[in-house]
Amino acid sequence: MPKDDEKSPWSMPAVEALRAGPDTRVEDIDANATPGFEGGKELGAQLLEERGAYLSGLQERLYANGRTGDRRSVLLVLQGMDTAGKGGMVRHVIGHVDPQGVDHASFGVPTPEEKQHHYLWRISKELPRAGQLGVFDRSHYEDVLVVRVHNLVPESVWSTRYDEINQFEREIVDSGTTIVKVAMFVSLDEQKKRLAERLERPDKHWKYNPSDVGERALWPDYQEAYQAMLDRTNTDYAPWYVVPCNRKWYSRIAVGELLIDALERLDLDWPAPTFDLELEKQRLAQA
Ligand code: AMP
Ligand code: MG
Repeated sequence: MPKDDEKSPWSMPAVEALRAGPDTRVEDIDANATPGFEGGKELGAQLLEERGAYLSGLQERLYANGRTGDRRSVLLVLQGMDTAGKGGMVRHVIGHVDPQGVDHASFGVPTPEEKQHHYLWRISKELPRAGQLGVFDRSHYEDVLVVRVHNLVPESVWSTRYDEINQFEREIVDSGTTIVKVAMFVSLDEQKKRLAERLERPDKHWKYNPSDVGERALWPDYQEAYQAMLDRTNTDYAPWYVVPCNRKWYSRIAVGELLIDALERLDLDWPAPTFDLELEKQRLAQA
């Protein structure tokens, strides 16, 4: 936290600057922008450390409360095109918190077993346990994004999924999970640079998938699918945040702030002892 006499580098809280609204137009998103943030890369890097430490403290309280009967949890949903930086977000933001308290899941092409089930089956299995910080690298939204763009099921099927997802998320929220949905936007040019880097660097070859190049030709279709996702699933109980991702230092501090906000709103205290504190001090002194 900035000290009282320091001016916050945020002109507006990230939750306000990034919240999707009815007027959000995917085609107008500037992936280079740094909404609400007035500093640059250097300050961003410094803040990531400071706020990461603060986030870690909040998460530990969530975990501690989960251990003593509190059913609540937080779920971060990361959705974005290839190279948007989902993996880096997990490493650099979630990387600040104790791994014991994190329930991480990533969702790729459904396995043969997953294909035999309803598309929400594999998602339900990975929802965060009480006291945990859940992170989804891709999610059920793939079933209205890649599935829609590639016609993997007919329109009559995918078009019903928006309402179904809203209902699904309503139940998750009602059971005590705060959902933070982050739509990560990288520009077509920046994606090209990042894919080129994957080809140049042997340590990044494993991330390169030849089919990612073909997806670039479908960019307008993906934009349309992302627009429909934002239009139809941006509920007050599970809101979308639109995060420009060309500047990784920005997207990381921004998502860090979104998580901090979600955890602060839980108003978590350290759990009270379930034993007689004074008695235990005496017992220990004599042991
Ligand atoms: P990556 O995140 O790079 O490991 O890639 C995972 C791939 O799985 C992406 O190309 C996704 O679009 C794809 N994928 C994820 N969920 C689904 C789904 N439900 N149906 C088809 N493809 C999917
Ligand atoms: Mg990939």
